[in-house]
Amino acid sequence: MLCKTLALVALVHTIGAFESEAPVDFSHHKIVRIHPKFVWDLQRLQRLENVFDSMLHQQLLKVCHYDEEKAENLRNIMYSTRAFDYDTVYHTYDEIRDEMRRVDDEGKDIPGLIITNPGGAAKKAIFLECGIHAREWISTAACLWISNQLVTTTTYDNLLDKYEFIIVPTLNVDGYIYTHTTNRNWRKTRSQNGLCYGADPNRNWDAAFCQTGASSSPCSDTYCGKSVFSESEAKAMADLVATKAANTAAYVSVHSYSQLWMYPWGYKSANPPNKARLDELSAAGVAAIKATDGRNFKYGTIANTIYVASGSSIDYVYDKLGVQIAFALELRPDANASNGFILPASQIKIASQEFWNGLRAMIEKL
Ligand SMILES: [Zn+2]
Repeated sequence: MLCKTLALVALVHTIGAFESEAPVDFSHHKIVRIHPKFVWDLQRLQRLENVFDSMLHQQLLKVCHYDEEKAENLRNIMYSTRAFDYDTVYHTYDEIRDEMRRVDDEGKDIPGLIITNPGGAAKKAIFLECGIHAREWISTAACLWISNQLVTTTTYDNLLDKYEFIIVPTLNVDGYIYTHTTNRNWRKTRSQNGLCYGADPNRNWDAAFCQTGASSSPCSDTYCGKSVFSESEAKAMADLVATKAANTAAYVSVHSYSQLWMYPWGYKSANPPNKARLDELSAAGVAAIKATDGRNFKYGTIANTIYVASGSSIDYVYDKLGVQIAFALELRPDANASNGFILPASQIKIASQEFWNGLRAMIEKL
């Protein structure tokens, strides 16, 4: 009940700003009155009602963080003057897909953008693979934020003259939708595997598949899947990278959380042959991150930095596609956060900025 009360207090506080003259009637569990001085489009009002309704009725109320996150997201949606808010809102899949279609009218089922400037033959590609784990919302939000910077400003024309950025903001679409509708803490895909759902799409790639740091139990959060590339999300991404493999400057898989900048391998503790080069690039990245907002990121191989894990995307592109520069990042917060998947929406912008600064510092050294 405490959580429910806290969530309501947050909402009442928010709504109070809009309703100073008429108190909100909560008896029907819906917001029935909105101060007329604020213009509301129907879609936004419906979205507000849906969020509010599910907040009251959902079964996860005992997990306080989720309610606080919803309240903050809702508050930011209400205050935002933008149809799509890159700075302070964790958007739903439908909103992301529509926004991708607005930017690029060929928006796919797994939305992705190729951003570059005209001219220049055979530009090298830089991949941002984001949201492979459903609950890591800041990964998706930060990649969207970067895509918006690239599309709407001329600041980074020097990068776009030289590279094409291939950005997939929400690779695990089904899982991401599930985190918005049903279980905020969902990590895997939503494929059915016996009695349980989902495989870990970052244990499903053809790199020491299911040998270590992955589970063969379909109910585990790190279930490797029925077979290599059984998950369509991993397969689709692998196929996309394969089309550019010989011409890829860097592949970056974006996760949260723990503030880490990692490179191959995950499936064994040995150092990769170009460790010195990867260290140099990582050091540039983490220094730029530190300079942004004082955050400390550690760098090193996946196995030596976080844990042993086989079947990951960067090990695959490194081993099988010959992409020499492959990183897996864990964005903020740091590893000590009590529930780090819930990063307040007020930190979307700074988390994105520090990531982008780190990324650009790395790219400048390529
Ligand atoms: Zn992850």
